[in-house]
Amino acid sequence: MDDSPAASAARIGTVYLVGAGPGDPDLLTLRAARLIGEARLIVHDGLVDPAILALAPADARLVSVAKRRSRHTLPQDAINALLVREALAGHDVLRLKGGDPLVFGRGGEEAEACRAAGVPVVIVPGISAALGAAAAAGIALTHRDAASTVSFVAGQCQTLADQDWAGLAGKGRTLVIYMGIATASAITDKLIADGLSPDVPVAVIENATRPAMRVLRGVLAGLDALIVAHAVRSPALIVIGDVAAREPAAALARLTETVA
Ligand code: SAH
Repeated sequence: MDDSPAASAARIGTVYLVGAGPGDPDLLTLRAARLIGEARLIVHDGLVDPAILALAPADARLVSVAKRRSRHTLPQDAINALLVREALAGHDVLRLKGGDPLVFGRGGEEAEACRAAGVPVVIVPGISAALGAAAAAGIALTHRDAASTVSFVAGQCQTLADQDWAGLAGKGRTLVIYMGIATASAITDKLIADGLSPDVPVAVIENATRPAMRVLRGVLAGLDALIVAHAVRSPALIVIGDVAAREPAAALARLTETVA
């Protein structure tokens, strides 16, 4: 290998923006599993399950940029700068994110920052939490008898008031809310103000596909009380719509048993 300054200056690493899925390592894509197994440097979110990080080589460098409400956070600009700096120094970077990198994961911002700096980016999709949670809980997000559309929204407080959810929930529609546990009471008010019935079924899925998974069911008017009574914590999803009350399909229920 040529170690001259000119040669090392020329080598730019690639940033792999990789989805780690909802938690169960078996739900990684083959490509994600291969990249993790070969990684030298992994920059990961707090949501990435330790069982997945354990698939990395023992001498790989693991950098956590955990983002948690009310805890110390590495600002997004600093994460972007870290990825670019490492790649320009010649290192391939595995940027590992929970679920899918382009669903509420700021993967788009990181890809833009890399491309602006001339760093090549490869994006590897992952099973987003909504899909993993639905399968594990046996909830069909669409069903010919109950819902023909499904929407994904983010319920965190900074943006909640500005979001227009009108028409996203109701008869024949499924609404899946990411990051909505802390704001469940405001979410309930918002949906009822939009005309949704207080009796519409809801399900809360905590730690989907992980050993500690819990599935709670109720109705919209009781959503906040359900979350408080069971001390639900992040990561958890809220599913709103008739599909949340249907009996799990047998095959899907078996998956729930093996995971729970
Ligand atoms: N990119 C991720 C979402 C990141 S936002 C994806 O595609 O899934 C983080 C939110 O995702 C959490 O607040 C929670 O609402 C949801 N989430 C992630 N993993 C989850 C899990 N295992 N169970 C339930 N919800 C999960």
